[in-house]
Amino acid sequence: MDQFFEFFRRLTDTSDWPPRWLCGTWTEFHGWLYIVSDLTIWLAYMAIPLILIRFLLKKTGVPLTGVFWLFGAFILLCGLTHLIDALMFWWPAYRINALVRFMTGLVSIATVIALIRYFNEALGLRTSEEYSRELTLRQQAMQELARSNEELQQFAYVASHDLQSPLKTITNYLTLLEAKHSSHLDTDARKLISVSTAAADRMRSLINDLLAFSRVGNTVEFTPVDLNQVVANVIEEHQADIQATHATIRVEGTLPTLTAHQTDIHQLFQNLVSNALKYRRPATDPKVLIRVTDRGDRYHFMVSDNGIGIDLKYHDRIFQIFQRLHGRNEYSGTGIGLATVKKVIDIYGGRIWVESTPGTGSTFHFTLPKIIKTLQHYAQTDSLHSVG
Ligand code: ADP
Repeated sequence: MDQFFEFFRRLTDTSDWPPRWLCGTWTEFHGWLYIVSDLTIWLAYMAIPLILIRFLLKKTGVPLTGVFWLFGAFILLCGLTHLIDALMFWWPAYRINALVRFMTGLVSIATVIALIRYFNEALGLRTSEEYSRELTLRQQAMQELARSNEELQQFAYVASHDLQSPLKTITNYLTLLEAKHSSHLDTDARKLISVSTAAADRMRSLINDLLAFSRVGNTVEFTPVDLNQVVANVIEEHQADIQATHATIRVEGTLPTLTAHQTDIHQLFQNLVSNALKYRRPATDPKVLIRVTDRGDRYHFMVSDNGIGIDLKYHDRIFQIFQRLHGRNEYSGTGIGLATVKKVIDIYGGRIWVESTPGTGSTFHFTLPKIIKTLQHYAQTDSLHSVG
């Protein structure tokens, strides 16, 4: 212990030894070869950590930065031992030299441990070649997806256009038939006309909903969309229904503004709110609550109702297109609404799920990133470079 304290007390004391030039018999050439070599190693060892530090400061998001810093410290300390070795030809700082060597030893061991620990992780890191190959594949897949989406939209648009005009003719002729010949028609005939008109109306809704579904995510024109305004518009659109059913729709706090496609966001809230009003319990005034929580890089929205609820076994199925849990006579609908909502959220990089107790109500949860990028954005730009 005494030696330990004495060592630190006399750390800078060099009186016990002669400088290295005076130990043994150095020739000029031998001594200077030793000194110049040590100084060269020291300079190189100084430069490596400086380059590493500059790299770490300039390049954000480098994986395993801890190992980089440790490696830098290790090389710096190794360099320092060579500098002291050269200086000791004039300045016999044997104690300082021992301390620096001890610290170098510790940092070396820590570096070895870190390298072994992170070996597997480092093996898993992609090389820039692997990364750019993966990036190309992802971009190709996204372009393909965008293209097939566009095709689907075109198909749906043409089909809906072509289907709509004969449908209009059918509805017009049915209306005409009823108006012109109603006095000659018996109850049965009139009932047939009204059933046919209702079927044509339903087909129109289906075509319109399918068209809306196919259009989702097909625009890259994003604008700031104030969600408070979107919800206010949706409430306005449902005013008649709200008054007829004595419903209340409440928004807790203030909703954020997102840069997105106005129609997509409108579709999202419109479908969720209209379902919350539609799937109400008999003799219960519908109560709808819209909330949002900030989750750092994303928002978590909740749309709750006190309606009929959904059995757990259907919690996934309801998001598939044309999946309905009720007959047309019970609740009207096309089975496209929640599929459209899910499509918007999927394309925007969020997630949707439902929590529900049958007979009590449902809460639709969904998340949306604060900065929304569509598949097209990914496909058209090389913004994937900044992902992850
Ligand atoms: P639609 O309402 O046109 O039938 P959706 O895709 O919007 O189609 O919904 C799919 C199914 O999910 C609905 O048929 C209904 O059974 C169920 N559903 C949706 N929203 C609710 C809700 N808020 N409460 C209870 N059931 C719901």
